[in-house]
Amino acid sequence: MRNYKTQMEAAKKGIVTPEMETVAKKENMDVNELMALVAAGQVAIPANVNHTALSAEGIGKGLKTKINVNLGISGDAKNYDIEMQKVDMAIKFGAEAIMDLSNYGKTNTFRKELVAKSPAMIGTVPMYDAIGYLDKDLLEISAQDFLKVVKAHAEEGVDFMTIHAGINRRAIEAFRREGRKMNIVSRGGSLLFAWMMMTGNENPFFEYYDEVLEILREYDVTISLGDALRPGCLADASDAAQISELIELGNLTKRAWEKDVQVMVEGPGHMAMNEIAANMIMEKKICHGAPFYVLGPLVTDIAPGYDHITSAIGGAIAAASGADFLCYVTPAEHLRLPDVDDVKEGIIASKIAAHAADIAKGVKGARDIDDKMAAARHKMDWDEMFEIALDGEKARRFFEQTPPADRHTCSMCGKMCAVRTTNMILEGKEVKFCSEK
Ligand code: SF4
Repeated sequence: MRNYKTQMEAAKKGIVTPEMETVAKKENMDVNELMALVAAGQVAIPANVNHTALSAEGIGKGLKTKINVNLGISGDAKNYDIEMQKVDMAIKFGAEAIMDLSNYGKTNTFRKELVAKSPAMIGTVPMYDAIGYLDKDLLEISAQDFLKVVKAHAEEGVDFMTIHAGINRRAIEAFRREGRKMNIVSRGGSLLFAWMMMTGNENPFFEYYDEVLEILREYDVTISLGDALRPGCLADASDAAQISELIELGNLTKRAWEKDVQVMVEGPGHMAMNEIAANMIMEKKICHGAPFYVLGPLVTDIAPGYDHITSAIGGAIAAASGADFLCYVTPAEHLRLPDVDDVKEGIIASKIAAHAADIAKGVKGARDIDDKMAAARHKMDWDEMFEIALDGEKARRFFEQTPPADRHTCSMCGKMCAVRTTNMILEGKEVKFCSEK
């Protein structure tokens, strides 16, 4: 029986939890140093008491950048077997988090299976599930109904929940005043905006925030404060609507910490490269150093079909500038529900961004694997290269598709392989191209 409710409460009391031990080991850091960061809210360890299959991860200051994989069915694509294949793909490639964003029908059977099998953190957006869970249309849903969905997900073992508590009346006023090109592009945010406008009520997650926190505290669910007003195009980035909501999120962060509820703050969106670093600094300042979870940012609006690339560019810059957690984006973004191949492309792109940022940030040991790859390339040890590669299967397939005559080269330059030539000269050998067989 534990004598604390949340990781944050334990950290404030100086208790080292098993989850802190796991995270400290994975991050190769001192557990007391980690505990101080959890107590200060600068690191979150999302770990629902009911998620027994979890291998805990930390998100925040000084830790490796983590990635999240979104999946889940929609009304137009409702095959849970395919979604389970995506789960397997996410686990295989080492995604630290999976968000089930199912938004059609009764979703809890799939989620329970997911929690039971996944060592990765599980996240949800209860707002997406409200209509299906409650079997009511939006206008019929009461504020207390929304809280029931939060409780149901907490009981099921969800580790973190996106809750758009910051889009309150004040933030909406700023949004309306602003006049945007893309208005609201957050699904949960748009539903709340519609509910608030149709009922005339305040945002229920804002109005009853203390009750929400009580539920989350009970199960040690981390609140991921959603950015309902994130920019959906470059033109809307860093505008008053986005910043007004961020100011609300800063206040809500402090209120959550007072109840020992762990917090992450969500961020943009679409954003030009030159605005990203400033946005990371702003979030850390306004939200008191809370871990920052970014979707993208997508650095251009014109590449549907390739948004895993636009977001990996933005994600790398964001993480190198202070973001802690990247939500992957697949090539299907803006177009359709991703298939299993899209999910793989999205994961790899996001992993590259996170790893590249960790090297730039100077995360301890982050570059070791790159140095190993350089050594394997120097030796022309293909098996070792495939072993080290993020996607060794693809690397091997490409190499073997057009095999070189000499395995100390590849088919791109053949015997004119620069690595082979230089190695031979440095080993005191003669290099000949015409007479060599
Ligand atoms: S053949 Fe060319 S591309 Fe291939 S490993 Fe050698 S230098 Fe690199």
